[in-house]
Amino acid sequence: MTESTYRIHGATGDWEVVIGLEVHAQVTSRAKLFSGASTAFGAEPNSQVSLVDAAMPGMLPVPNRECIRQAVRTGMAIDAQINAWSRFDRKNYFYADLPQGYQISQLYHPLVGEGGLTIEADEKAGIAEDKRIGIERIHVEQDAGKLMHDQHPTMSYVDLNRSGVALMEIVSRPDMRSPAEAGAYVRKLRSILRYVGSCDGNMEEGSMRADVNVSVRKPGEPFGTRTETKNVNSVRFVMQAIEHEARRQVDLIEDGGTVVQETRLFDPGSGTTRSMRSKEDAHDYRYFPDPDLLPLELDDAFLDECRASLPELPDAKRRRYIEELGLSAYNAGVLTAEVETARWFEALLLEAAAAQGKPPAEVAKQASNWLISEFFGALNKAGHSLEDSPVSHARAGELLALIGKGTISGSIAKQVLETMLETGDSAGAIVEREGLKQESDSGAIEAAVDKVLADNADKVEQYKAGKEALFGFFVGQTMKAMQGKGNPQVVNEVLRARLN
Ligand code: ADP
Ligand code: MG
Repeated sequence: MTESTYRIHGATGDWEVVIGLEVHAQVTSRAKLFSGASTAFGAEPNSQVSLVDAAMPGMLPVPNRECIRQAVRTGMAIDAQINAWSRFDRKNYFYADLPQGYQISQLYHPLVGEGGLTIEADEKAGIAEDKRIGIERIHVEQDAGKLMHDQHPTMSYVDLNRSGVALMEIVSRPDMRSPAEAGAYVRKLRSILRYVGSCDGNMEEGSMRADVNVSVRKPGEPFGTRTETKNVNSVRFVMQAIEHEARRQVDLIEDGGTVVQETRLFDPGSGTTRSMRSKEDAHDYRYFPDPDLLPLELDDAFLDECRASLPELPDAKRRRYIEELGLSAYNAGVLTAEVETARWFEALLLEAAAAQGKPPAEVAKQASNWLISEFFGALNKAGHSLEDSPVSHARAGELLALIGKGTISGSIAKQVLETMLETGDSAGAIVEREGLKQESDSGAIEAAVDKVLADNADKVEQYKAGKEALFGFFVGQTMKAMQGKGNPQVVNEVLRARLN
C-alpha cells in the first residue's frame, strides 16, 4: 500500500497527519431508542418527549427493535463482525440537556465489532489508490437534548425532542492520512448509510456529525498525542478542521510546546478550532452496565432477516456497472455514489431498453452518458433535482429511444430536453409539434452538402490540398443549413463521397 504523501511543511521538516473519525449517525426510525416518542425533525420544542425521555423516576427503557435492526444492517454493510450478545452501559455525567444524568451507551460490549470500508483512488485529491479504512466498532446510544441560549437575554431553554433518539457511533481506526482521505471516508460512509436506509445522512440537520481526532508525527515515528474536535457537521468542515488542527499542532511542537489531549470546537466562520475542555477518560464517566436493561441477544432468524434485507451496496453496484453494463469507471462512480442517482439510472435503463426493444446492457452506455453529460446539467439549470424532476424515467427513456433510433440528433435532443423540462410534455409530442425529426433522406442531405461545397469552393481547395481538419467545418455548415436536423451519419457519408 502506498501511503498518502500529504505533508505539513514545518521548520524542522515534513510532518504526517494521522486522523481517526467518530461519526454519530442518527438511526432512521420513527420512534426513539428506548421510548415510543417520535423522532420527526423540526417539531415544536418539547412536543416529542415521553416520560422515559424526560427521565421521570421509575420509567423503564425498552429497546426499540427497529433501531437495533438498523445498526446491525449497517454493521453488515461495512463487513463488520456482528456481536449476537451485546450490552448497554450507563455513561454518567451531568449536563442540562441530559435529564437522566447519564447516557445509555455501549462501552464494553458493542453491538458491532471490527469492519471497514474502501475509499476510491482519486488522483486530483492525492489519493493514489483505493484504500481500506478500518472501522473498529459501532455502538448504539441515546442522543441528548438541545440547549437554546439565544431565545432570551438571561435564560437558556432546553428542548428534549432529540433526547433519547437512537444514534450509531461509528468509530474508525486512525487510518486516514490527509484531509482528502477523511472527506472521502465521510462521503463513502454517508453513501453506505443511505443505501442501507439506516440514516438519512443529512449533515445540515445534524443527523450525521463527526468528531475529528487529529495528531501529527514525523513519517515513520509512533503516533503523536491527538486532539478531538467535536460535532463537525459537513464534509468541508471536517477537512478544514483537520487542516487547521494539523498546522496548529506542528507549529506548537516546533515552538517547543506539547500537544495536550483535549476536546476542541470547530468554528466554521474562521475555519479554526479552539479548546473546549481537557479530554476526560472513560473512567471519569463511571461506566457500568445499565441495570434496567437486559443484555441484547440476537437470534439467527433476526440476523438472517437483517442480511437478507440489505440492498446491493455501492461497491458491488459500481463493479457490476463496469463489468456487466460496460460503463466507464468514471460513469459507474458518478452513478453509484448516491443511492437516488443509481435508482434513477436503473429505472431509466429499463425504460430506454423497453422503448428501443433492446436488452438494458445495450443501451447502458448511451443512457449513462446522456444522464451525466446532458440530463444532470439541464435539470440543475432548470432548478430541479432528481427527486423533483419534472421529467419521469419513462419520458426520459422515450427521448433516448428517439435518439437511438435516429429520429432526432443529439443536438436536437438537447433542445427537446429543455422544452420537456419547461412544459412537462413528452419528447414525441415536442418533436412532432416543432417539426424536429431528423432528415435521413439522402436526397435532401446531398442538396445541402452540394450547396455548402459550392459556397465554400476555397475551403474545398484547401481540403483537397491536405487540410483535412476542414472536414468538421463542412459537417458543421451542412448541419447548420439543415437547422440541425440532418442525420449526422448520413451527412458524414455524403460529404466523404463528395470530397474524396
Ligand atoms: P477514546 O475511547 O478515548 O475516545 P479511542 O481509542 O476510542 O479513544 O479513539 C477514538 C478515536 O480516535 C478513534 O476514531 C481513533 O481512530 C482515533 N485515534 C486514536 N488515536 C489517535 C491518534 N494518535 N491520532 C489520531 N486519531 C487517533
Ligand atoms: Mg471515543
